[in-house]
Order: sequence, then structure tokens, then C-alpha cells
Amino acid sequence: MGELAEPSDRLENAVLAARIEFRGEELPLRSAQATLALLDDYGAREELGTLTGDASARFNDDRLELLGAEETLDAELSGEADPVGRSAGRKRIDLDELAAALRSAASEQREAWTELRKRWADRLLGEKREDEPSSYHVAYLRRLSPLASLYTKERAVPVCLETLTRLGFDLGADDHIRLDLDDRPQKSPRACVIASDPPSVVHLITRAQGGLHDYQSFLHEAGHALHYAGCDPSLPYTFRRLSRDHALTEIYSFLLESVTREPGWHREHFALDAGEAEDCADATRFLDVLLFRRYAAKLDYELEIWADFGNAPGYATKYAEQLRAATGFRYRPDGYLADMDGGFYSADYLRAWIRSAQLRAYLRETIGPDWWEQSATGDFLRVLFAQGTQPSSEEIAARIGFSPLDTRPLVQENTPAS
Ligand SMILES: [Zn+2]
Repeated sequence: MGELAEPSDRLENAVLAARIEFRGEELPLRSAQATLALLDDYGAREELGTLTGDASARFNDDRLELLGAEETLDAELSGEADPVGRSAGRKRIDLDELAAALRSAASEQREAWTELRKRWADRLLGEKREDEPSSYHVAYLRRLSPLASLYTKERAVPVCLETLTRLGFDLGADDHIRLDLDDRPQKSPRACVIASDPPSVVHLITRAQGGLHDYQSFLHEAGHALHYAGCDPSLPYTFRRLSRDHALTEIYSFLLESVTREPGWHREHFALDAGEAEDCADATRFLDVLLFRRYAAKLDYELEIWADFGNAPGYATKYAEQLRAATGFRYRPDGYLADMDGGFYSADYLRAWIRSAQLRAYLRETIGPDWWEQSATGDFLRVLFAQGTQPSSEEIAARIGFSPLDTRPLVQENTPAS
């Protein structure tokens, strides 16, 4: 959308330039958001969270204007006036059916979630936490911050490389994948992959902050990088570089990231006994279910707001209520625009949630419970990677014997007691 590059850059630059004042220090908004994950004091996170939320909400008028302009342009260019129908058409799926399957999966795991949430919110946020803490604490939870001495910043890259080696991927020696792991102050802590010219030039960029999240995001991005760097060079450009959506590549990143949910992974890499390793795996399950529920609620909300985009501000309260009901964390109504990914990206993540659980069930069956450290898993993935972006997420389901919306493996993994 070249025509809108200018207003979009303007908003981005304004957000980059925004500063907040926190305890006598001036912080760029982005650094303040990153700092939220690192503050050990509950009250300090509340205070900084409020400041960053206020600062971010000041851009809501600009966000709304930009989203509206993008929507108008996309409607014109595509000839399809309905944004929901347009996205569904591009993805070649029924978004309402997907949302319904996810709602029922989320409701099946509600009871197990309530227990998981209580256990880990108490342990990670302290028993004096509010009953429904604000979302300001979520980034802190994602690092498993109280366990940060276990998941050190220094070990993130070596442990992840070793994890991939066991799966048969020598990422360090792969000259198609260029690693940028430097710790520069201006660098975003958000990891990403830029597939400039797959398979030969793929950049993987991360910046460790310490905590489990470093390990999860490195493995997640490694999934994308190995996918793009593993595609057959003779494929046409379309199937190397372009994709109808991100639901396929997210399967691979979700799968590799999910290695961190295996008790054996914690035991082997962090010198833990079996009980401690089970405990850490339970904590990663908590994080995964939290995020799953958050995204499932986000999709419901996005379907509603896009069906009535002319009245978008009227959906702010609904956004906050739906996310709170799904997660047990309080979200700010005025975060309703900043927390929205374009083109129903949430639906791509959610399809990957379903699919990667199906794939783990398949790998446990065909390779064994230790699929996560067997080179046979790498061999299986390499065949898929070679096909680039050609298969749809739903075709992968068919190949491993599942129907696309079968959420049983996902629900089973997250309700271990039943
Ligand atoms: Zn991803």
C-alpha cells in the first residue's frame, strides 16, 4: 500500500519519538514498554504500565484515521467492500467457523485454565496480587521473570542452537541464515525474521533480555528462518517469497517454540531434577494457554469491529471485556487499536496453534514422545520446508490425518488432568 506509506511512517515515527517520565527518568515509549518485562516490583509495573498505556492511547486518533484510510484503499483495489469477507477470501477459510471452533476449545479448557492461572499468577506475581491483575504484568510473566536466573541471557543462543542441532538443524553453520544477535541500545527487543531472498538470504534478528521469553522467541524465529532458508531454490518466486497469509510459516515457528514446553528440555539444558523440570514445563503451559485464550478473544473482537468499522470506537469497551473474560487479566479499553494486527493476523496465529498441536500429536505417534530431540523430526520438517509457501495450513492438516478445525490435540495438551 505505497500510497499510505507516508502517514504510516509518520505515525511510526511519532510513536518512536514519544517519551514518558518515569521516576525522574525520561524514557522512549518503546523502551518503557520493554522495561515493563524487567521490573520486579508489582507497584512499579502498575505505575509504568499506566504511563505507557496513557502515552500509547494518545495516538488513537491517528491510528483510527490510518486504519480507515487503509481499509478504504484496500476495498477499492480489491473490489470487495466487506473487510471480513475480503480477508477470508484471501486466506481461503471461513473466519466465523474458525472463531466458533476456537470458542468451543477455549470453553473446554476453562476449568483447567482457571487452576493454571491461579497457580502461576500467585507464584510469579506474588500472593498479594490483585485478583484480576492488569495486562501490564503480562510481559513480566512471559519472561518467567522470577526464574530469570535460570534462563540467563548468556545461555539463550547456545541452548537454542543445541536444541536445533538435536533436531538435525545446524543453524550456526547455515550460510543462508544471517544471525544478528548484537545487543545494541536502539535495537528493538522484538525478535524477527526478514526473508530478503529465500532460500539464500534470510536474516534472523533477536535481542536477549534474559528470561524464558528469549529462548522461546529465538526458537520461534528459527522456525521461520529454517522454513524460508529450506525452500527449494527452483521454486517460482511466488512460493519462495510470497504467501497468501502467515498461517503456514507460523506452524513451524510454533512447533519449534513448543520444544520449551517439554519437561525433558528443561531438565537437560538447565540441570534440573524431574520435579523441577515438570514445574517449569507447567509454567510454559500457563503462558501458552494465556496467549491462546488472548488471541482467540482477539479474533472474536476483530470480527466484530471489522464488521462495523464505521463505529470502531464503540468497540473499545467490548475489546477490554472480552479479553478480560478470556484471560482473567484487565485490559484497557483504549488499547483496542494498538492491540490489533492487520489482515486478521490473529487468525493465522490461531490456525498455527491448532495445527502445531495436531503436528505434535502426529510426531509423538510416528517418532515418539522425544520427537523434540530427534533428527527424524528435522527430516520430516525439511520435506515441508522445501515446498516453501505453497501448501496451505489446511493441506498440512490433511497430510497428517486431521481435519483443519480439529482442536482435540490442542485441548488435550492444555487440560492435562482430564
Ligand atoms: Zn512468527
